[in-house]
This record gives sequence, structure tokens and C-alpha cells, in this order.
Amino acid sequence: MRRYLSGIIAVLAVMVLTSSSLQAKKIRWRLAMSWPTSLTPISSPAIKLAKYMKEMSDGKFIIKVEGAEKTKAALGVFDMVKGGSYQMGHTTSYFYIGKDPSLVWFTTVPWGMTKDEQYAWFYYGNGMKYMKKVYAKYGMLAFPGGNTGVQMGGWFRKEIKSVDDLKGLKMRIPGFAGKVMAKLGVSVVNIPGGELYTSLDRGTIDALEWVGPGMDIKMGFYKVAPYYYTGWHEPGAEALFYVNKKAFEKLPQKYKTMLVTGMKAVAADMFMENFADSVTAWQKMIKEMPNIKVKTFPISVLKAMKKATDEVLNEYAAKDPTFKEIMNDYMSYQKKARVWTMMSEYYYLKASQEVQNVK
Ligand code: CA
Repeated sequence: MRRYLSGIIAVLAVMVLTSSSLQAKKIRWRLAMSWPTSLTPISSPAIKLAKYMKEMSDGKFIIKVEGAEKTKAALGVFDMVKGGSYQMGHTTSYFYIGKDPSLVWFTTVPWGMTKDEQYAWFYYGNGMKYMKKVYAKYGMLAFPGGNTGVQMGGWFRKEIKSVDDLKGLKMRIPGFAGKVMAKLGVSVVNIPGGELYTSLDRGTIDALEWVGPGMDIKMGFYKVAPYYYTGWHEPGAEALFYVNKKAFEKLPQKYKTMLVTGMKAVAADMFMENFADSVTAWQKMIKEMPNIKVKTFPISVLKAMKKATDEVLNEYAAKDPTFKEIMNDYMSYQKKARVWTMMSEYYYLKASQEVQNVK
């Protein structure tokens, strides 16, 4: 009997130990987003990643996603992941160019690469190598987290007929595009997404850029600023996942693989979701919002924007060798990639427009 009892005790002890070691293996991470949870499709990648990680790990890898409505720090994601209070973030690199201008190359630059070109540079050129090198300085890893495709040039209260019309304009336009606009006399402000409509409505700003029709229409900007311009400044803006490097290194290899593969899948999915939303939104605009005036900036304004872009980039390159190194690599890749984009996408679309009468 005693032997029988001690056998049971031994079995129980093993069970307790096993369950506590399983318990210890359960990973609980927090992820901070720069956007409110409701702001799809840009909030979709983090939310979907958390769902897939939970399912793929049989509930052992839990990522709690917190939107800007919870963290109250839309532009604080960099510091929160760097400091380790959050193991992950979903944000965009160019929000933090005040800390390090080289970060701009991992979102988008005015007159830069389209999403196809940029993804090729990230994954099959030197993009990821540079991203790893730059973010290592801050104890973080960064991964592409969803692309918007070509963004629209923004919403303006009045028509822009010349460079003079830009002077004194108050505009929300982040990244290097903001620096370019500043050179052209615009007073540039950076406001988190959740506060944009109010700022425009109250006249705190006269113009803003956000993303494209899918995301812009539901923000209601057209009600107060009806001039909607085609893009030049964010040809392929990439959101990024941040991962605290120490936290990542502690993961078992299979979770590392799941996470990296999962991030790539949800990033691709964001482009699809945003594209589909924009298709729907553009039809809605045509049919239900006749007050929206779609415009392209005059060629003189576009040329001034290009000249100012070159000046801004060269000024930073002159001060910062890392910036210069990445810029040279990015630009030489863009030059080669654009030849192929023109041969494939551009000539197909041009031919299609001629024979299918696309408007
Ligand atoms: Ca934008």
C-alpha cells in the first residue's frame, strides 16, 4: 500500500512539474500600435498577427495588442519597444526621424520607390540588411509591417495653382515630405491620426495628407477640405513591426520562425485590404461625394517639390555617413528597378488605357 501511495505521489509530482514547466513556456507579450484599434486596415496587421500566433502556438504565445486609444502614446512606440515595456510595436519608421534621419529609408521618401520596387529592395536587395544595422543601435529588430501603395497627395481647403499657394499653409505631412514642404514655405505639423479631423475642422491646419481613399473617406476630411491631390510624396509607405531584440532572442527557434513568417503574411495582407478598401471608396466618392475635386499638382509645383526633395536628402547625406550610404544604395536600386516597372506595369497600363478606355 505504502509503495502504491508513493507511486501515486511520484506521478503527481511529475504532473505538477510538467504543467508548471508548460506554464513557464507560455509567452505573454504586449504590442503597442501607433493607431487606434478601430483604424483598419493599418491596425489589421498587428491584430491578425496576434490571432495567428495564438492559433499556431496552441495558445502558448499570446500577444496583447494595444491601440493608441489605450497607450495614449501614438508616437511613443519606438521608446516603448526600445525600453522593453512592450516587446513589440506596430508603427512606421519615419515618425522617428527626429531621433535618427536614416530611419526614413524604411518607410518611404518623396519620389522614391513603389511598393513592388521597395519590397524587392528590402528582401532581395540590401534593405533588410540596412534596417537591421540601423535598428540594432536601439536594441530593436524591425520588419516590414504592411504597405499602403501609392498614397494620395492630401486634402486641401483651397486649390494649389502655384508654389506661392503653398506659402504659409499649415499642413500635417510627416516624414521627409514635411521637410520638403517646409522648404516650399509650408508650416508643417505632425499630428497623430486620431486627432486629424478635429484639427482640420477647427482650422488648426489648412491641409493634410493621410493615406488614400480607403482610409481617407471614413475620416471625413472631404467635408472640410474638398481638393484631393494625387500623390508624389509617399509612393510606397511601409508600416513596420518593431521587436525588442532581447525579447526576440529569448524565443525558441520555432516561435521566431512563426513570428517572422507571420509578420510577412499580415504585411502582405494589409496591402490587399487597403487596395480593396480604396477600390470601394473610390466608387463611393464618384457616386456620393460630388463635392470632392480630384487634382494633380501643376507641373511647376511638382518640379519644385522634386528640387526641394533633392536638397533635403543631400543636406542629410552631407551630415550623416550612414544616411548617405543607405541613400546611395536605395537610389541605385530604384534606378534599376524603375526601368523594369516602366517596361512591365507602366506600358501595360498605358496600352490598357488606350484600348480599354479606362478613366
Ligand atoms: Ca501618409
